[in-house]
Amino acid sequence: MERHYFDANATTPPLPRVVDAVARAMADTWGNPTSTHREGQRARHLLEEARRRVAESLGAAPAELVFCASATEALHLLLRGLRPALGDRPALVFPGEHSACLNPLADWAVRWMPGDPEGCATVVQMAASNETGILYPMPAVPALRIKDAAQAWGKVPVDLADCDAAVFSGHKIGGPRGVAVLWMRPGLPWTAVMEGPQERRRRGGTEDLPAILGLAEAVAELPARLARNAELAPLRDALEAEVLSWSTDYEVVGRGLPRLPNTSSLLLRGHLGESVQIALDLAGFAVSTGSACHSGSTKPSHAIMSLGYSEQEARSVLRISMLPGAAPEAMAALGAALRRILGR
Ligand code: PLP
Repeated sequence: MERHYFDANATTPPLPRVVDAVARAMADTWGNPTSTHREGQRARHLLEEARRRVAESLGAAPAELVFCASATEALHLLLRGLRPALGDRPALVFPGEHSACLNPLADWAVRWMPGDPEGCATVVQMAASNETGILYPMPAVPALRIKDAAQAWGKVPVDLADCDAAVFSGHKIGGPRGVAVLWMRPGLPWTAVMEGPQERRRRGGTEDLPAILGLAEAVAELPARLARNAELAPLRDALEAEVLSWSTDYEVVGRGLPRLPNTSSLLLRGHLGESVQIALDLAGFAVSTGSACHSGSTKPSHAIMSLGYSEQEARSVLRISMLPGAAPEAMAALGAALRRILGR
């Protein structure tokens, strides 16, 4: 059976040039960038060249980037490394943050948005929601501003001017899994929590050079990827209009708000999102009920509930997230399968 992948917010297939770069690096440049011999020096040279390319794309200085294994790790390193300097002063946090961000905040004094920013040392705001695709501006609060750009990267432009630290994930932009970027503005009151000489003593552990070189290749495709993602909005809007025409019980979360062009969060009252997702999977369509990290667990999405929806409504959500270049025919086939499954 032909498969159609509509779960781009969970992960994306690595681009061919990424697969090539990773395979080549694994075969040819497996040296340790910390070693001082020729093999190590060559690895170091390639590592720094990749850092330069990624930094240029982000509009940052190469030395400001720390390569990590995931955005989850980057958020943990960032938040745990800031904690000693910030003490118990509260953080103003967007309640729909990803668990990768909420978990390291578990022992912080958290004030949920739209709480009073007075006295807050930090503000934590994702650039785009992985679940709804809604875009969020960084609140203008005089505090240290942290941006999770994992979902926004490659789908909409990401600005570093309005924040002091940001994280990016490679596997969301056609890069390899297992590589991410932590960007920190110089001078942050941050201390390393994973000791080691690598990454200017900011993240210990031998760098995953193949993954980092693969990431640099994915980054080279970002301008084209942004353009192709932008083209998805009319396809998404057409699917949403069709679904809404089937029942007044159906809703699109975030409709009318600035959103990622590839994401549709369909609230299908009267249905269990999980059952619809399974039926679509059997019909050849990969979609999600919410954050991929929650798949397999039956907990309703905190991000949807934080928007004011009930637990039952949160359980009725189906997330469709398109890859750049999604074919209109595949979208039409998805719409037809969904209609059949919903009995409309
Ligand atoms: N932040 C957001 C908004 C995400 O959507 C994700 C992954 O879904 C992450 C962080 C975690 O990224 P990674 O898979 O690189 O750990």
